[in-house]
Amino acid sequence: MSRIADFIDKSARQNVEDALKRAKDNEMYHALLSLTKERALERADAVDRGEITGRLAGVPFVVKDNFLAYGAPTTAASKILEHFSAPLQATAVEKLEAEGAICIGKANLDAFAHGGSTENSAFGPTLNAYDKTRVAGGSSGGSAVVTALDIVPFALGSDTGGSIREPASFNGVVGIKPTYGTVSRYGVVAMASSTDVIGSFTTNVADGELVMDIIAGLDRKDMTTLPDFFKPIEDTKKAQKIGLIKEFMTDDVDDEVLARTNEYIEKLRAAGHTVEEVSLPIVAHTLAMYYIIVPAELSSNLARYDGIRYGTRATGIRTLAELYGRSRDEGFVTENKRRIMIGSYVLSSGFFDAYYLQAQKARTLLINDLNKLFETYDVLMGPTVPTPAFKLGENTADPIKMYLADIMTVPASLAGIPAVSVPAGTSQSGLPIGVQLMSPRRSDAQLLALARQMETV
Ligand code: GLN
Repeated sequence: MSRIADFIDKSARQNVEDALKRAKDNEMYHALLSLTKERALERADAVDRGEITGRLAGVPFVVKDNFLAYGAPTTAASKILEHFSAPLQATAVEKLEAEGAICIGKANLDAFAHGGSTENSAFGPTLNAYDKTRVAGGSSGGSAVVTALDIVPFALGSDTGGSIREPASFNGVVGIKPTYGTVSRYGVVAMASSTDVIGSFTTNVADGELVMDIIAGLDRKDMTTLPDFFKPIEDTKKAQKIGLIKEFMTDDVDDEVLARTNEYIEKLRAAGHTVEEVSLPIVAHTLAMYYIIVPAELSSNLARYDGIRYGTRATGIRTLAELYGRSRDEGFVTENKRRIMIGSYVLSSGFFDAYYLQAQKARTLLINDLNKLFETYDVLMGPTVPTPAFKLGENTADPIKMYLADIMTVPASLAGIPAVSVPAGTSQSGLPIGVQLMSPRRSDAQLLALARQMETV
């Protein structure tokens, strides 16, 4: 059932005031870093006067705080950008505004999107929408939680290795990571340029398709965008061949996650699709590839925050080295620094061949293996995350444990293929569990049509 539809043809001012009130009432979740109240109300009045029209006229939404947007700072949940006011807006935000949508606030995230729990935010964690003692997931935790709490009907996030799908799974909402290059990243703080994508959080698939339809497309300001290809379709091909990745269904995975995934498989079969076990042994190595390639790329992207060109400058400095060192030390969280160090190391002369180049070669093997499976299967699937949302603080002392939660989401990121996490029920204690569906590059429309069909089975 579309949630967005409930906001269409209503008083935009009322929509925005109600959303702002819900944001206030749910402050304890710390899902939002700022509200863009003044600008949102101005735009709402313009919609009500008929000056702004479009498919999303008067519909409130939230963006992750690594999207440049007017009306509040763009912090990327970091101290170094705490006072940064965007001089322009992200293309995705512009496109939504051109259809009349109204941004009411900026969502919390792991600083610079480095993390899987939103505990790495410099401004404190976001709490899970279903259990305040647990993590929201990350890095787009705030965007998932505002959608799950129904503060707004949709939110935008970015996904580099699972940052849309993982929090979607932890909060019982739909998270779409499109084919690499589907949506312009212009005006979004870069993490890892070869896997960063923009996508949506919604309560149902159809709303996600609508949002993606609006934000997708070629952008002259982002040379990595693909020529327009994404158009939602009415129906999926009748019977699809689906491969269940067996390496994602092992004893290491939480029992209830396995149980909900198996139930989803039964529903797929009941709808006339075939599901067969397939093997993708290379997934054993994908985290190793990811945690070399991504730090390498982000260490380059984060070099610009030096306290001179970008970012808050430390005070009381005497030398240039101190200026760089202290500004970056004070401006980044521990996880940012850890990744910058790993990235600089694997790119350094003498180690580049052994780590970065090797990881890129292994990545090609992963892509080849996936392509091979896609010769036989339309869709690949498995759980989205090995567990339901974990406890706050449970994984913070051990980065490796935190990284392990990404094992099921990084393959689609490294291969640039579309993936969606859909709610598949809850654990006995009421924690949401998600299932992930993946398909070949540029088959996003078919993938989402299947996910939508399954909501009615
Ligand atoms: N959890 C993953 C990481 O820490 C994914 C982050 C992301 O997609 N931005 O890198």
